[in-house]
Amino acid sequence: MRKNALPFLFAWFLICAIAAPGTIYAADLQIERLTWAGVKLVSENTTVFIDAVGKDLWDGNAPEGLVPVTADTDRRYALVSHVHNDHFDVDTLQEVLGDRGYVICHESVATYIASRGLKVIPVKTYSPVSRGGFLFTAVPAEDGLGEEQVSWVISIDDKRFLHAGDTLWHGKWPLIGNQFGPFDAVFLPVNGARVLREPMPETPAVMTPSQAVDAAILLRAEILIPIHYGLNDPPYYQEVDSPIVTLAQEAERRNISVRNLLPGESISLND
Ligand SMILES: [Zn+2]
Repeated sequence: MRKNALPFLFAWFLICAIAAPGTIYAADLQIERLTWAGVKLVSENTTVFIDAVGKDLWDGNAPEGLVPVTADTDRRYALVSHVHNDHFDVDTLQEVLGDRGYVICHESVATYIASRGLKVIPVKTYSPVSRGGFLFTAVPAEDGLGEEQVSWVISIDDKRFLHAGDTLWHGKWPLIGNQFGPFDAVFLPVNGARVLREPMPETPAVMTPSQAVDAAILLRAEILIPIHYGLNDPPYYQEVDSPIVTLAQEAERRNISVRNLLPGESISLND
């Protein structure tokens, strides 16, 4: 597996080296948590959304609040982990990207996303693309319902992040950690949601808090920022009890730093 990964690793570092002389520096980076799994990164003239949802899917009860998805910069990109509606919001992306923005997505969902009237930049897994001073690389993930899903490695200057949509635990974490780590921050799903349909009523369809801590360790993450929690809609959707409390306990026990951000809350990189 390591042998096969070498060409990808070489290509990634090569593009890093090419991208590095850009005028955007990580110190300018602003990180905002959006609703649910959404994250927004802004650096100089570029805004990057990951799994941004601005539509009220929660009948007025969005977990910790519904945040408007807006941008002030000329350059706008939206990364999508997969096309479930709590990660891919067509109307919101059409509005915020307009004619000038692009959705960056795995090639397996590019045709579908393009059919929704959005401009797409399709990528293959492990094939980085550079835009606006950022470098984006799709890496493997495992969707709880069997859809195509990727996680995103995002780098700018010497800073690296990973956003993991709502993936299950999977066996690629060590490889991703070895190839791309260490990470300055990782955005990981933590609610261990069980989608209560037969025949898998007890099996989580999303990483649990303990699994997220394990992943953060393998990714060599400096900070774990939890996403994708705060919803219970039994019998159809049931997350673990008190995911953030459990995460805090497990992270402390295993010496991982957690930074909780409310939707709409921002940090600059050096906070
Ligand atoms: Zn989800």
